[in-house]
Amino acid sequence: MDPQLLKKFVAEGKMPNFSALLQKGSFRELTTSIPPQSPVAWSNLITGMNAGGHGIFDFIHRDPRTMEPYFSASQVQPPKHGIHLGSWVIPLGSGSAEQLRHGKAFWEILDEHGIPNTVFRIPANFPPVKARGYTLSGMGTPDLRGSYGTFSFYTDDPMAAAGAVEGGEIIPVQLEDWQVKAKLIGPDNTFRKGSPPATEAFIVSVDPLEAVAKIDVQDQEFVLREGEWSDWIHVEFQLIPFIGNVKGICRFYLKQAHPRFQLYVSPINIDPADPALPISTPTSYSRQLTEETGEFYTQGISEDTKALSARVLDDKEYLEQARTVLAEHRSMFDAEFPKFHKGVFFFYFSSLDLNSHMFWRLIDPRHPEYDATLAAEYGSALSQFYQQVDEVLGEVLPKLDDHTTLLVLSDHGFAPYYRSFNLNTWLLNNGYVTLKNEPSSSNEAFANVDWSRTRAYGLGLNGLYLNLRGREREGIVEPRAQADALLREIKEKLLAVRDPQNNSPAITRVDIASEVYQGPYARQGPDLLVGYNRGYRSGWQTILGEFPADVFEDNSNPWSGDHCMDYTLVPGVLLSNRAIAADSPALTDIAPTIFAEFGVPKPAGMMGHSVFSTGH
Ligand SMILES: [Zn+2]
Repeated sequence: MDPQLLKKFVAEGKMPNFSALLQKGSFRELTTSIPPQSPVAWSNLITGMNAGGHGIFDFIHRDPRTMEPYFSASQVQPPKHGIHLGSWVIPLGSGSAEQLRHGKAFWEILDEHGIPNTVFRIPANFPPVKARGYTLSGMGTPDLRGSYGTFSFYTDDPMAAAGAVEGGEIIPVQLEDWQVKAKLIGPDNTFRKGSPPATEAFIVSVDPLEAVAKIDVQDQEFVLREGEWSDWIHVEFQLIPFIGNVKGICRFYLKQAHPRFQLYVSPINIDPADPALPISTPTSYSRQLTEETGEFYTQGISEDTKALSARVLDDKEYLEQARTVLAEHRSMFDAEFPKFHKGVFFFYFSSLDLNSHMFWRLIDPRHPEYDATLAAEYGSALSQFYQQVDEVLGEVLPKLDDHTTLLVLSDHGFAPYYRSFNLNTWLLNNGYVTLKNEPSSSNEAFANVDWSRTRAYGLGLNGLYLNLRGREREGIVEPRAQADALLREIKEKLLAVRDPQNNSPAITRVDIASEVYQGPYARQGPDLLVGYNRGYRSGWQTILGEFPADVFEDNSNPWSGDHCMDYTLVPGVLLSNRAIAADSPALTDIAPTIFAEFGVPKPAGMMGHSVFSTGH
């Protein structure tokens, strides 16, 4: 939730319940994390510490010994050791998922004090930490392939580019005798040599006259009209007979029956009724939820923004999918909230974040992807999501009594993302990076970089690292004096960068990590945090260590709003039914606020203070 959009929609009379809370309670902008990315921001809230204390600095981290990038929130490991037996590898010990966030979560401390709690879909909690209460993991939870979500798109269009696209796979199929035979792609089969993905066959029978198809998957059969979504379909991947089967769920969408066959299949989600990896505490809780409300998306980022970016789903189709996600969350909220009588109840809604990312271009005529026709049709989609969140607040407000404290908060606000800044290209142009004379054929990150003549590099959405001796594999910058001088030099130059298109500053703030991070992990992240101006963000390719030709580019992706910027420009919101005393509360104040409400002493290492107490 963005404070400016909240005020706008309240003024337009679209959010009566927030309007009531603003009048009777209090409202502040909530200072977000450095950098203002969700995994970092929610880790600040969860632990009451900044990235120096919890060790999550960005969506993407790197291993300085190999320079390989990896997702920061969690790692899913295949079984390490196996016995080779023909084409089968028998695992010794099963695969596992590892939580990479450090520091105790606030609900672990509540558990220690016997305070009941339910924590629903909080980001940066996969696999969920051991807890006595009910928790369901959210952002950071992978799909069955171990990715953040990989859709499949089956088509007989010979013009479609087959293969992997970001967040999905385009799969060519043939329509023969009005039938399409295809395979669902499951997890990599670590039981087999070379770990090929496990697959399960399905058959689509297309009606020659009507725009209708019948789909057979394992023992399920269902009919879809063109433009229709299926319910959740169960699929079981056979990894090794009788031993290692893995269950998933997915949804089918028949985009077109003919003349072209086009079938979208959602990422295959971990089946909440029989999860292959832990997604809840107690482990039976996700099954219990399906008994109450039916199956649901378990992948962390459930909105299929990648399918819209790849133009596999259009705006209307994506919107239907995104509305289904919110409908699932609302029905789980409606099932769980009435059970709450004491302690802490936390519930996270993802809709405002993901849909602000995708629909900013339809509320802002200045955006390069603004389209007046689409805006006339879907320009109100974002405000409708805000209205739905207002309806949820309308269910909560009547239940409050004098002993109950309500906090409504977001981890960051939102801004337009008009133009990309390619940090690595800028570093190259300014002599901080040197490339090898002969380009490498490898498509690994930084494959062409001559590390013996490179002093700094960009990785992730806001990170800039020095190539430091003793830390990076081939580091050349001497620690301390030389490193400090170089950081200050780069910081000054970045703050002077102007966009040649309009002469506005692209970067309004650069923080030196050692000045803003405290705690045992303070030195493990980037050395500089680059804070972009509203309208700017690091480009899609530079994030993963690539060097596009131009420093500046228009953002032509439907992902058109963002918040990975100067953290002072994208604050979140904090509303309460009680008087907030703090003038400028921060995410790191929320855990101490919760503890103060229950008289639990604030653990050592936590930075903040209760937002209700005066004198800080
Ligand atoms: Zn976001």
